[in-house]
This record gives sequence, structure tokens and C-alpha cells, in this order.
Amino acid sequence: MSKQLILALSKGRILDETLPLLAEAGITPAEDLGASRKLLFDTNLPDVKLVVIRATDVPTYVQLGAADVGVAGKDVLLEHGAEGFYEPLDLGIAECKLMTAGVRGAEPSHARRRVATKFVNVAKRYYAEQGIQAEVIKLYGAMELAPLMNLADEIVDIVDTGSTLRANGMEPRELIAPISTRLVVNKAAMTMKHDRLKPLIARLREAVERRSADVSA
Ligand code: AMP
Repeated sequence: MSKQLILALSKGRILDETLPLLAEAGITPAEDLGASRKLLFDTNLPDVKLVVIRATDVPTYVQLGAADVGVAGKDVLLEHGAEGFYEPLDLGIAECKLMTAGVRGAEPSHARRRVATKFVNVAKRYYAEQGIQAEVIKLYGAMELAPLMNLADEIVDIVDTGSTLRANGMEPRELIAPISTRLVVNKAAMTMKHDRLKPLIARLREAVERRSADVSA
């Protein structure tokens, strides 16, 4: 196994919050990530590289060892399943909630419920645990539209401020899980590259702890 460290970062809103944290832990990209169409980047450290990929692909890269370390939302990790990697650190960024939601004022049906979501595995598990029969329909976006178009009775989606739901005449119902961004580490790499990973995880942990100390001060 090479001594090079590959970090897989989730594109989009998580990336904007991850880069300052990485900088606080001593890792900065060698060039502006937004300025090119490149996906693989050098950093200030000669043996650390970054790949910037879709959030849903991060667990796959880390599980299969194509990346040693990943940064991904707990929503994505819950949906993917936790085999093949450790989750040593909550980075405390991009916090939100995974919830069920429905049309405002409508009673959730007691019969077989139709649920639209991109979190199919999470939704199946959740409704089974609640003893509710559910038909889970996979969608790739705009979940809020599904109840309005009579495609589903409920959705399972990420809620932050709740304004997306409100704007579409919907309301949050049950909390499935609080979500934040996590550091994940390939299991084999954790052993084989422990001398490289231990200080990296420690520096990130210190950065996270500094931030929460600043907030509570
Ligand atoms: P809001 O309208 O503030 O409740 O935001 C809800 C929408 O923003 C959801 O449909 C999500 O797609 C997206 N969103 C908000 N926070 C996050 C997050 N931490 N990670 C991923 N998506 C998010």
C-alpha cells in the first residue's frame, strides 16, 4: 500500500465548509478547487491528494480503498451502510435533520403509505421499525413535489430551516436522525497508514474542538 494519502471530499455545500476545517488541520489545496474541472488535486503536503466527488460516491471510494479518508454527510453514510470504514470523527458541519414530511394539515394515512425519497434504505428501515407498511419510491430530486403531484403520501428528506417544505405547503413530521458531516477512514488504511492518519485525525479533532469551544465561550 502506498504511503500517499488520498482524501475524498463531497462536492457542493459540504465542500465549502470542509475546506476551512482542513486548512485549520494544515491541509490546503495547491490550487482553487472551484476554478477548474479537475477532480484530483495536489495539496501543500507532497503526499496528500484530494479528490472532489459526488457525496454519494464518497463511502464507495473509502470502502473500496480508492480513497483512504472521506468527508461525507451522515445521511449518505446511513443510506450506504457502514461496512468497510471507520467513522472516527463528527466534523460538526452541515448540520441538519433527516425527517419524514407530508402535506400541511393532512393526516398521515394508516394504510400502506407511499413514501418518496432518495434515501430508500433509510426509509425502508425506518418505516419497518415503526411497524408502518410503506411502499418506498426512489426519486433523485425535488422530493417536495411528490405529495403535491399525488405520487406519494410522505417524503423522507433533509430538513435544515424547513423553508423548502413550507414553500411547498408541507410540514416536517418525525425525526429519523440528526445529521452532520463525518470523517470516514478505510479500515485497512487505518492499520497500514496509522502513522500518517493518527496525526491528521488528531489535528482535525483539535480544530473541531476549538470551534465548539469558541461557540460556547
Ligand atoms: P431547508 O429549506 O433549509 O430546510 O433546506 C432543505 C433542503 O436543502 C433539502 O432539500 C436539502 O436538499 C438541502 N440541504 C440542507 N442542508 C443540507 C445538508 N446539510 N446536506 C445536504 N443537503 C442539505
